[in-house]
Amino acid sequence: MAMFGQVFVKKGKYRIKGDFHHLAAHTPIRDADNAFSLCGVTNPRELTYIHSYGGEAVFFESLSRGTLLASRCEHHACECRGTTYLPFRIYCPDCLKRNRVIDVTDEAKRSARIYTFMVCERSGAFSLLEKPIKFINIAFDGIDTVLMSYLSLGEPRIGMEVVPIFKRRDPSYTILDLSWVPKGTPAEELKPGFEF
Ligand SMILES: [Zn+2]
Repeated sequence: MAMFGQVFVKKGKYRIKGDFHHLAAHTPIRDADNAFSLCGVTNPRELTYIHSYGGEAVFFESLSRGTLLASRCEHHACECRGTTYLPFRIYCPDCLKRNRVIDVTDEAKRSARIYTFMVCERSGAFSLLEKPIKFINIAFDGIDTVLMSYLSLGEPRIGMEVVPIFKRRDPSYTILDLSWVPKGTPAEELKPGFEF
């Protein structure tokens, strides 16, 4: 198997290296109830998709450093000035000006609680989370939106106090690097790679 495609940016442009599209041999699809007659072929292929984070990149980078970033509209003429967003929004949806990025790690550690939750015994395609997945919606003091994430330990209940954990070792640079555990969980119980 050739190397997966890799990307870096130089002078404001993507520079790509390696193969982004791997093909493998077709296999026949045959009808077991009809003398194994031919019905079609499989088309095995593997694609590497380039997903750009744009102005959200700082949020994902911060998770790998144990920091949770939100954003806030501070535009003087905005009717909704002061609204604080987590999930991180690059632009204010009311005045369309760029939001200020703010560090809310301490607020999250102090005040995060489960607003509501759902436990999923099955997942959608391509999910890397262990099942059952405990999806939680998290509310914070001073933040105007509710964050969707997942609980890594314990059983969720409404109002439960939780604290963030960050995958600081071998981060994936995706939202999976952020998870939550009940307040008071000892550090030695965290999953590999995660830290408070
Ligand atoms: Zn605004």
